[in-house]
Amino acid sequence: MTEWHSANLGAVLNTLGSNPDSGLSTHQVDKRLIEYGPNTLKERGPKSPWRILWEQLTAVMIIVLIIAAAASVFLHDYKDAAAILTIVILNAVLGFVQEYRAEKAMAALKRLATPAVKVRRNGEVQEISAVGLVPGDIFFLEVGGIVPADGRLLEAVNLRVQESVLTGESLPVEKNASFLSEDDLTLGDRLNMVYKGTVVTYGRGIVVTTATGMDTELGRIAEMIQAVEAESTPLQRRMAALGRTLGIIAIVIVAVVVTLGLLRGEDLKTMFLTGVSLAVAAVPEGLPAAVTIALALGAQRMLRRRALIRKLPAVETLGLVTKICSDKTGTLTENRMVVTTLALPAEEAPGRIRDIDLPAEGQVLPDELLSPIALGLLTAGALCNDALLSFNEKEDRHSYIGDPTEGALVVAAARTGMQKADLETFMPRVAEIPFTSERKRMTTIHRMIENRSKALSYVYPWQSESFVSFSKGATGSILEICEKVWVDGSAQPMNKNRRDWIVEANNRLSGSGLRVLGVAFRNLGSLPATAQEEEIERDFIFLGLIGMMDPPRQEAKEAVAVCRRSGIDPVMITGDHPLTALAIARELGITEKQKVITGQELEKLTPGELTEMVEDAAVYARVSPEHKLKIVEAFKLKGHVVAMTGDGVNDAPALKKADIGIAMGITGTDVSKEAADMVLLDDNFATIVAAAEEGRVIYDNIRKFLKYLMTTNFGEILVLFVGMLTAMPVPLAPLQILWINLVTDGLPALALAVEPAEREAMNRPPPDTKKGIFADGLGVHILWVGALMAVVSLGLGYWAWQANNNTWQTMLFTTLALSQLGHVMAIRTGKVSLFKAGILSNKPMFGAVVLTVALQITVIYVPWFRDIFGTVPLTAVEMLICFILGSVVFWMVETEKWFLRLSDARLR
Ligand code: ATP
Repeated sequence: MTEWHSANLGAVLNTLGSNPDSGLSTHQVDKRLIEYGPNTLKERGPKSPWRILWEQLTAVMIIVLIIAAAASVFLHDYKDAAAILTIVILNAVLGFVQEYRAEKAMAALKRLATPAVKVRRNGEVQEISAVGLVPGDIFFLEVGGIVPADGRLLEAVNLRVQESVLTGESLPVEKNASFLSEDDLTLGDRLNMVYKGTVVTYGRGIVVTTATGMDTELGRIAEMIQAVEAESTPLQRRMAALGRTLGIIAIVIVAVVVTLGLLRGEDLKTMFLTGVSLAVAAVPEGLPAAVTIALALGAQRMLRRRALIRKLPAVETLGLVTKICSDKTGTLTENRMVVTTLALPAEEAPGRIRDIDLPAEGQVLPDELLSPIALGLLTAGALCNDALLSFNEKEDRHSYIGDPTEGALVVAAARTGMQKADLETFMPRVAEIPFTSERKRMTTIHRMIENRSKALSYVYPWQSESFVSFSKGATGSILEICEKVWVDGSAQPMNKNRRDWIVEANNRLSGSGLRVLGVAFRNLGSLPATAQEEEIERDFIFLGLIGMMDPPRQEAKEAVAVCRRSGIDPVMITGDHPLTALAIARELGITEKQKVITGQELEKLTPGELTEMVEDAAVYARVSPEHKLKIVEAFKLKGHVVAMTGDGVNDAPALKKADIGIAMGITGTDVSKEAADMVLLDDNFATIVAAAEEGRVIYDNIRKFLKYLMTTNFGEILVLFVGMLTAMPVPLAPLQILWINLVTDGLPALALAVEPAEREAMNRPPPDTKKGIFADGLGVHILWVGALMAVVSLGLGYWAWQANNNTWQTMLFTTLALSQLGHVMAIRTGKVSLFKAGILSNKPMFGAVVLTVALQITVIYVPWFRDIFGTVPLTAVEMLICFILGSVVFWMVETEKWFLRLSDARLR
């Protein structure tokens, strides 16, 4: 078949061997999957293990070492050459293992992020991963979905698709399922086709798949799309810059040390190797890679806490978040709506509104609930509705499939004996205007079937006409289209008084935390000529209010408390009524204030004015997606690091603008997930806070890593530099320098990446992004501890050398190595004493330290190693001295932490 769009539908289905009613069979799908392959675009795949290894071996410093080894061979110093190569290999293996793990973690995250699609197969609707789609599959389109494959439309209801990825046209195109006779239409004009990668902005549709994977239109231009480079994170960039600066400084120092040595008459070969070793040791070229690995592994840990990271920078930004702007429904609440109250205008009732409570399921219904007008209200709510009624056998109660707000209405009607499906048989839907967050209402038109079932023929107000239209939505939005009110059996004009009753009742119900929907109807003699909103949504008669409860999530309450303790402000942003929002916000502890800013108020504010007052409120209500963007911008201008949740198509800009855009894994649209940095697999606010905590731990651990590495480097440079200024020989042999940096340092540094969360991580404000990574005493720590390491080890070495002890260099070497191990143990915690945190609370670290001590002992006592590393065996007393002096750094850093705790206590 040449052109799918201009062929007749029967021929299309025939060619594809598909049946719209039953879809493909499992057997057909399996065969086609083999024939056509998975529905994915070929990507530049993850790095292969060989490539990772190659990158490890071609890092500049490794090449320098390989040259040094080659030079040693040239000078017939085979032992040195072998030792250098061994260290190169060890180092490459360590690097390889780490990066391979990180790469695998990222690939797993990517696999999880592929969207799901509803298909009809074997006669049943099921949800599958879009990767498994094959030509001939029947799939369903919904608002906010990304079209998973190319296909011909079988059915389209108000379907609009934005095709800018393919056509560049940003306005959505109206699609339909009709036949097109022209063959050579451009992509944008093929209105009965949908294409992979485009976005459904409105309506719904059913499609038969014509092409998948690289055969799709998107596949043809896939190469182009993939030209986008992975962006590096702020921390990675800072580390790269820092690495460069420190690298230059280190090389200058190395040059000075080498020159000093040569001036003192040391031989060229020794000074060449010393220079190379020192350069390798002191240039922190591995910093950006270490950060990437820490972030990738962090992302894996976050996944375990049900937060799926889509963009790596989010991992570090999460640790810095100061505002979490969250939707209410489903994120802070359970999204298990239950209708609890109906409110109907009635002249005789107090406040002119009669409330009817709907007791919990299983309890007896009050008689007044079975009055025609109450049943009329529930009927309207159930018909102007896309949810389906079902029954939960296990719990023996009514249930639903679809949106919880709508589900609650269908269930409430069913409890009075009116099943949605039955209602639809005598009032079938013939037209609709869907719900959107901007309009905040939904309208349907139904045909009245004459021959209706006796059992269902209640005395409805709309019984006389051929058609009836129902509208339900936010009360304010419904009042906009009402001309009259149904009061005690007749339609009365909507005057100010009556409007006030309704608004008061609405506020009363909202104030107790209920979501309130207004419901209205309009009798129609015939179908409106056009499907225009203005034509349909006018002259309605207001019927009543329906209040539903959506209980706050228990875990959200705890998470809010953690947020506030840790200097993160939770902000509620909701489409719901201000009073509903406030009631729930207060229950959750988000705010004690009464202040709520509404979407209407937001519209009137200039960006400057909003920035001034954005921090005054913790609750934003009746907000539509475009307002969210304004709120994010204002918070950012105030210097906040903002996380923002969203689920709809129109939330995408706000999600992109936020520092961390968060989409809902269960209820979110594909578009919102695509725009987000992180997806909550359980739609739960508490998960955001858990991810923020992980983010802080990762940020802390990266800082600890930096603290450790830089202190070591500084200490070592100082030893050599100061040593060269004295009369003593070069303090450390080249291989000893390499050993300390690549082996003694390597293992504990790895273990720092898995350092568990500190108890205080969520008991302090987030780090100040403006201050930079060396803030809060990090720089000072590096200087004084590095100096201490140098003084202790060099001091011991100098003393022993003066005493003519030939073990002086081995003692210096060992003390320096042990000092580092002491240091790494002490900095595992920021302020808490190691003994309180528990020496074994990071078992890999304990193992790394024990192993490194054993390796150090091997280097001193095994003759073969002694030869290579130029060490001499120490006596027990000498070893004891090394251990005692090597622990000085540990005790001093613990003392520093004690002072920090003391000053904290004083501040409190
Ligand atoms: P949140 O922003 O807290 O998650 P939400 O996303 O449910 O809340 P919207 O979906 O924007 O908020 O809903 C806004 C208002 O529109 C609701 O308060 C309700 O009055 C009304 N509404 C919600 N769902 C429907 C629906 N299916 N049909 C008609 N009106 C609805």
